Parts: sequence; structure tokens; C-alpha cells
Amino acid sequence: MDVNVEENLAALHKQLNGKTRLIAVSKTKPVKLLMQAYQAGQRDFGENKVQEMVDKYDQMPKDVRWHLIGHLQTNKVKYIAPFVHMIHSVDSEKVLRTIQKEAAKNDRAIPCLLQVHIAEEETKYGLSDEEIRNIASEKIIAAMPNVRIVGLMGMATFTEDQEQIKKEFRHLKSLFDEIKKMGLTGMEMKELSMGMSSDYQIAMQEGSTMVRVGSSIFGERVYPA
Ligand SMILES: *Cc1c(COP(=O)(O)O)cnc(C)c1O
Repeated sequence: MDVNVEENLAALHKQLNGKTRLIAVSKTKPVKLLMQAYQAGQRDFGENKVQEMVDKYDQMPKDVRWHLIGHLQTNKVKYIAPFVHMIHSVDSEKVLRTIQKEAAKNDRAIPCLLQVHIAEEETKYGLSDEEIRNIASEKIIAAMPNVRIVGLMGMATFTEDQEQIKKEFRHLKSLFDEIKKMGLTGMEMKELSMGMSSDYQIAMQEGSTMVRVGSSIFGERVYPA
């Protein structure tokens, strides 16, 4: 099936409000398609698997900013620590500690978002509000000088019910504002990563600063059986 990446990106950019950054989610898609997006000016790419991100990092130009958006196993942090631009999917204190260790080895600080569980589905990863409030403490953050927590990420329930989606995004935004107000040293609440192909318009209305859009750019994904 033919997909016009450049046209799709242009259509999306028309709808972005200037405050929201577009992360092109390229998981399962070939480098050839990513290069079409790159040539159209796209620099932020999102992948959900470490190995795939590393392979594409090797093949793509070096000014691409790589965003990890899928669940991250602690034993895989080391492969992306040298180059990853942002990890959106921090879902445990344990993975945060591993990121600290590997970022220190690479003599850098890695920007991270805490993933909040906002959907009704049980299957989606993420921390509860309480767990987020626990991690957002001077004591934990001070012990991680090579981790920069810069915001929150969330995925809404997969549903046609727009009100439900709006409610979940609004909840995430209010948690974001709550943490931001705490004004913790070493924790900069500036990015709110919410919105995908099916719900980015609602997410933008609710205050998203980054949308992670895949199929509306690269076409539907076909997973191997
Ligand atoms: C796949 C994925 C997206 C993009 O999904 P689309 O529906 O293709 O836009 C966004 N966020 C996460 C975490 C994903 O895994």
C-alpha cells in the first residue's frame, strides 16, 4: 500500500498549534519510510523496542532525536543510554535507577518522562498517581543526578468514547500541574506527552506538549503473525 509520508506530515503540521511537538512513531516501519519523513524535515522519531531503535539509529542520520516510548527492561537500558534523546516510558523506580547508572557511565544526563497509568485497560504500563507522587520527592531525585525528569506521559483508553478520553487526559494534566507546583529541585515539569493518531486532537486541547503519532504518518502497521 502506498503512503505519502510528506503529505501526511504536512497535514499534521497544519493542525499542530505551535506548542505541541510531533514525535513520528516509526515502529515496525522500514528505514526507507523514516528517511522520507527525515527529508521532509522530521527529526523526532519514536520507537517502542530497544533493538529496533538501535538498528535504526545506526542507519539514520545522526541529528535524529530518538524517543523511546515503549516499556523498557532494565537489562536493555545500556544499549540506548549513549544516544537516546528522551525516554517517555519510565514505569518503575527500578528502571529509573538503572537509567541513572547507565547515563553516568556515558557521562550524560538522560531526559525522562514518568509514564502514568490513566487508561481503564489493565494491560497498559504505567505508574499510579500515588507512585508518581512517591517518586517526585527530593530524596529520590537528588540521588539521580544523571536523570532529568522533565514531565509525564500517558495513554488513554482505546475507545470511541471521546468524553472518556478527554477525562483521562484532563486527569493526567492535573497531576502534571500538581507535580509542577511542588517545584522540586532537579525536576522540571515541562513536557506532557499525550495523544496518538486516534486522539491527538483531544490531547492538544487538553494541554499536550508532545503527540506521538504513527499510523497517521506512516500508514497502518502490519505485525508479523
Ligand atoms: C504505537 C504507539 C503510538 C502511536 O500509535 P498510532 O496509533 O499509530 O499513532 C503512540 N504511543 C505509544 C506508546 C505507542 O506504542
